[in-house]
Amino acid sequence: LPMKAFRSQVQMVFQDSYSSLNPRLTIEESVAFTPRVHGVPPREATERARYLLERVGLEPKRFAGRYPHELSGGQRQRVNIARALALRPRLVILDEAVSALDKSVEAQVLNLLLDLKAEFDLTYVFISHDLNVIRYLCDRVMVMYLGKVVEIGDTESVYANPAHPYTRALLASMPSMDPDHRTLAAPLAGDPPNPINPPPGCSFHPRCARAEPICERRAPVLSDALAGHPVSCLMAMPDGGHSLPMRRMTPGLHAATP
Ligand code: SF4
Repeated sequence: LPMKAFRSQVQMVFQDSYSSLNPRLTIEESVAFTPRVHGVPPREATERARYLLERVGLEPKRFAGRYPHELSGGQRQRVNIARALALRPRLVILDEAVSALDKSVEAQVLNLLLDLKAEFDLTYVFISHDLNVIRYLCDRVMVMYLGKVVEIGDTESVYANPAHPYTRALLASMPSMDPDHRTLAAPLAGDPPNPINPPPGCSFHPRCARAEPICERRAPVLSDALAGHPVSCLMAMPDGGHSLPMRRMTPGLHAATP
């Protein structure tokens, strides 16, 4: 695709709803701005903006003429979503797009995103640290550590059978509502090392409960041979050289890592 066409098909929504919007434009002008730049006649761009504001739950009669500072954080994020949809993209990248919102507002915006996804036939790339939100919204999940993919698979498969020690630690650190299942020991110790100068071998080894001397020398690669979905850990590689290799499993069954 030529760059201009590609740009119109991929849009982004960022975490900071306020700095993403021009404070001197009304929200209608903000949403209409991008289609106008892409050659849509002004009147049609305004109509499209009003339609999208309506779709994201901001009634144009009440909201179209407002400025960003006159809106709440949740309302501003709705404007950013409307603006992202104004070029009729196929892919929307949501970078921590709901992280700054109150929990109740976050839930409303997540449901809105699900509705819009179905209505406009969208694909989302949803970047988040919130494992509950990821599980709610995503079909597939990719876990990254120090800029590298360590595990990837269907959300249900990864949540039911987390195979990489980092994924396991992340899931173990999720707060539980059940007082009988409190997290007592910290699932993960230490801070992430400097990504500019990552540790040799497996970059997770300084923090990994399963690290062995070979992990300091040998860098694992993604392999789906044992875990049922791709995992980057010597335990998940058939010839990884780790003393505790996973038992081979069929996709969908529970991983048998000790
Ligand atoms: S390769 Fe070794 S250090 Fe890295 S995640 Fe696997 S067990 Fe841990």
